[in-house]
Amino acid sequence: MSFQGRLCAGICAAGLCLANATAAPQVRHAHTTFAVAVHGGVFRHENQGDARLAAMKSALDHARTELNDGAAGVDVVEEIVRSFEDSGVFNAGKGAIANAAGQVETDAAIMDGDGLRSGAVASMTRVKNPIAAARLVMDANVHVLMVGDRGQAYAEKLGAEIVPEDYFVNTGRITRPPQQEMPKPHGTVGAVALDRCGHLAAATSTGGFDTKVPGRVGDSPLVGDGVYAADGVAAFSGTGYGEYFIRYNITKDAADRIRYAGKPLAAAAHAELFDVLKPFDAEGGLIGIDAKGNVTMQYNALGMFRGYATDREVPVVAQYEGPTASNRRK
Ligand code: ASP
Repeated sequence: MSFQGRLCAGICAAGLCLANATAAPQVRHAHTTFAVAVHGGVFRHENQGDARLAAMKSALDHARTELNDGAAGVDVVEEIVRSFEDSGVFNAGKGAIANAAGQVETDAAIMDGDGLRSGAVASMTRVKNPIAAARLVMDANVHVLMVGDRGQAYAEKLGAEIVPEDYFVNTGRITRPPQQEMPKPHGTVGAVALDRCGHLAAATSTGGFDTKVPGRVGDSPLVGDGVYAADGVAAFSGTGYGEYFIRYNITKDAADRIRYAGKPLAAAAHAELFDVLKPFDAEGGLIGIDAKGNVTMQYNALGMFRGYATDREVPVVAQYEGPTASNRRK
């Protein structure tokens, strides 16, 4: 993994981050707070998750070092999700599950809380790293969401790596007849971070649901549904029954509870999962970080692959019981 050596704001020395180095420098944050959290999807049935836990632990170890050195949160979340996509053990990138036609169609989005910059791709069939394509769309700064073959051609023009369909390990693997039962969420990945300049960022990437109808797009690439980040408020990445995340704008709604209703981070996430989603039997999970560096990781399903690290706490990962929050900051 490489974080491209970019710092969160031009100049970022120990305990002191300066804004834009070319303009008159201005102190943004004179603190050492940072935090990072990841998820590897919610699940309903017991499953063996050692490979996922190991991938999350390794990504968090690396991210903690990079954030400590002043890396930008948006670079960190992109690189974490990219490593999950490459691992082949999550439902994202290489390991994405196939649709009802046996084809892999991936969705991803990234959001930088600094200016609400956003980029997303959906229904990608040959993009190696959908999160990198989303980042290219964000940085091109023309559009936010690119879809299907024409969106893929645009991402390729921007520099996204294209691979043959058989690169994806589940190509051709149709696991069950379509629409026979409620879709089962599993293995979507996400990351959120607060960097030492106070910038929040979020990223989410998925193959969607197994045997989804071809052309279906879930919540993961939709800003405000499966991903959201706003400086001064919070960053969230979601996983679960995407149709309900879309209908209720789950990640934006959680952020609005903090921004407009003054709710604490954990209470905002809890309300989305248990007051909004649970009545529909819609499984879901959220990881979130607020502007102070508090972390929450909650789910209303049997479990959620998750983990976090902060400037004060070394990485921890869990699948079932275990941590659902960082030690609260004052
Ligand atoms: N939210 C994803 C989707 O609906 C699935 C998941 O999180 O597992 O596409």
